[in-house]
Amino acid sequence: MNTQIIDGKSIAQSIKDELKMKVQTLREQGITPGLAVVLVGENPASQVYVSNKKKACEYIGMKSFSYELPSETTEKEVLDLVETLNNDKNVHGILVQLPLPKHMDEQKIILKIDPLKDVDGFHPQNVGALSIGLNGLISCTPAGVIELLKRSQIEIAGKHCVVVGRSNIVGKPVSLLLLREHATVTICHSRTKNLSDVLKQADIVIAAVGIAKFITGTMLKSEAVVIDVGINRDENGKLCGDVDFQSCQGVASYITPVPGGVGPMTIAMLMHNCVLAATNQEGVLN
Ligand code: NAD
Repeated sequence: MNTQIIDGKSIAQSIKDELKMKVQTLREQGITPGLAVVLVGENPASQVYVSNKKKACEYIGMKSFSYELPSETTEKEVLDLVETLNNDKNVHGILVQLPLPKHMDEQKIILKIDPLKDVDGFHPQNVGALSIGLNGLISCTPAGVIELLKRSQIEIAGKHCVVVGRSNIVGKPVSLLLLREHATVTICHSRTKNLSDVLKQADIVIAAVGIAKFITGTMLKSEAVVIDVGINRDENGKLCGDVDFQSCQGVASYITPVPGGVGPMTIAMLMHNCVLAATNQEGVLN
């Protein structure tokens, strides 16, 4: 079995190039999509994410508005800022980078974001829309997983997909999206018994566990498709996923690498959401 590597970087690049053309058309109509990014505190990982998001906006021709606030900022100040951004016509998407400092209630801040501008897809209104199949903004990493599968011509309908992880930002929404694509979905988590037995039945495995190299090739069915959402550091401090990439070679039919798999897709889908939010708010047909 020759395992094919899914090149998330190049798929993400195609998406960004498509969006760049779309933004150009919007700009000709006098509409420039704008993303506001709010970062509170000095978390180095968050700073890297925020800077990548700004670069992506620049690349596709969108405006980005950056609010980098000190860690002692109060919850009220962030809520007021979100309120101002909700009412700002130049801002079509609002992203509050998580995690927030401990003295803030993340849910309260997410709830404050106008659901039409909630490009992270974390507002309960968007989560609810996803669960009952209504239009809304879908969270970026789960949307990126589906797009990776589709653009790699991997059929989802009728397949048994095993999602490992049940978080609100990855496991649960990706499970709902797979269901929407007509897969049979099993969700595993920290209390699941005999994970290997469940994984052996999977045509498609989505790993969102947060444990380095947790899923190995011996746990997979032959020719399974493996999508690795994890971003971890291995014992040598090297970036790695939740899947042991090496041991899956020759077993999996397709696999995403870390880095260069799901990661770049998250930003591409964020840009997609910003453009979608702008067209929705400006009343432009997609
Ligand atoms: P999380 O910690 O919120 O959730 C982890 C999930 O794994 C939980 O639902 C838990 O039940 C499950 N789990 C833990 N131990 C397990 C075990 N032994 N067996 C089975 N399930 C187990 O993490 P998250 O936010 O969903 O993120 C998961 C991973 O994805 C992390 O590595 C994170 O860094 C990465 N991530 C990547 C991107 C991206 O853009 N590529 C985006 C978000 C998260």
